[in-house]
Amino acid sequence: MSSMSENKGIWVFSDTHDLTLEMLGKGRELANKLQTELAAILIGNNVQEKANELIKYGADKVCLIDNPSLERFQAEAYLSVLHNLAANYRPEILLIGSTRNGKPLAARLATRLDTGCVPDCTRLSVDESRKLIGERITYGGNAVAKVTFKSKPQIATVPSRAFEKPAPQDRSGQIVKLDVKIEPPKTELVERKPLETSNVKIEEAEFIICCGRGLENKEDKALLDDFAQTVGGQVGCTRPLVEDRKWFSEWIGLSGHKVKPKLYIACGISGVIQHVAGIRDSKVIVAINKDAEAPIFEIADYGVVGNLYEILPALKEAIKKQLQ
Ligand SMILES: Cc1cc2nc3c(=O)[nH]c(=O)nc-3n(C[C@H](O)[C@H](O)[C@H](O)COP(=O)(O)OP(=O)(O)OC[C@H]3O[C@@H](n4cnc5c(N)ncnc54)[C@H](O)[C@@H]3O)c2cc1C
Repeated sequence: MSSMSENKGIWVFSDTHDLTLEMLGKGRELANKLQTELAAILIGNNVQEKANELIKYGADKVCLIDNPSLERFQAEAYLSVLHNLAANYRPEILLIGSTRNGKPLAARLATRLDTGCVPDCTRLSVDESRKLIGERITYGGNAVAKVTFKSKPQIATVPSRAFEKPAPQDRSGQIVKLDVKIEPPKTELVERKPLETSNVKIEEAEFIICCGRGLENKEDKALLDDFAQTVGGQVGCTRPLVEDRKWFSEWIGLSGHKVKPKLYIACGISGVIQHVAGIRDSKVIVAINKDAEAPIFEIADYGVVGNLYEILPALKEAIKKQLQ
């Protein structure tokens, strides 16, 4: 374990570009507070043109690791690059995007560096002794855990849209091309095919219409698709519609996608904590449920007590009229 005094600088890395930009905003704020340097780690093949953008979004420095073998995310290769960099240059704080790839990467990196890792931080701050404090939602969304570190680098993962993307600025920075030893992968990619059922990123949707067990038949999904199309949104669902009924491939909630749309409409969803944990950051929540006692109404900004099969078509027509 490295001593607390030697490490310097804040680094951000994500295998998704937008999340890197979001973390740069928070990273900049922390770097200013600690009066230290903010570096973005850019890994890939022919990714040099992204480096200037990272500087515009707040990085003082971009460490560029450009290599054909890094074209796509590959766990061992990316881990070896980050491990080599972190072991040599010893950052004080390392923020990693909490993506499907980033989360296990952060945990493995922390193990290699013999340091701590706090996953899914929705808030980050530093105290007077320069310690990073991460806040994460716990107990199914019922509590917030505040966690700090005993060792460095302090590694935290950050979910998408936890922090606002900063406004780009005309600023200058340093781009450093680094040659890092890349571990040959222990796994081989046999085939890559697009996910047939869902090719949209629901985390990025600004409007989501979500259905639960109140939806009676698989064919009734058309009602939601139609609504989403009219308003320009995306359709989501609760876990039982994936796990039990097999009507969808992904769900929203604690164990599924965490979403943050401007408008979220829940249709036939009871609103138990495991689902609500994934939607609580929505700006406006509208609930349609025939049971006036359904817990979803406790967190909804607007509630309609009624049958979704009557309310949805009527609401769609009303919106259509407004849009004309
Ligand atoms: C460890 C764990 C993790 C979990 N993670 C998640 C998760 O990430 N996401 C998730 O969603 N769930 C998750 N669950 C499941 C969760 O506990 C609930 O079972 C699930 O969210 C309930 O889904 P629902 O609201 O669709 O169904 P229900 O709870 O059955 O609610 C259906 C609602 O529809 C209403 N309704 C019925 N017909 C109509 C109609 N015609 N018009 C209007 N309203 C109608 C009813 O009044 C009712 O309130 C998890 C469970 C566990 C144990």
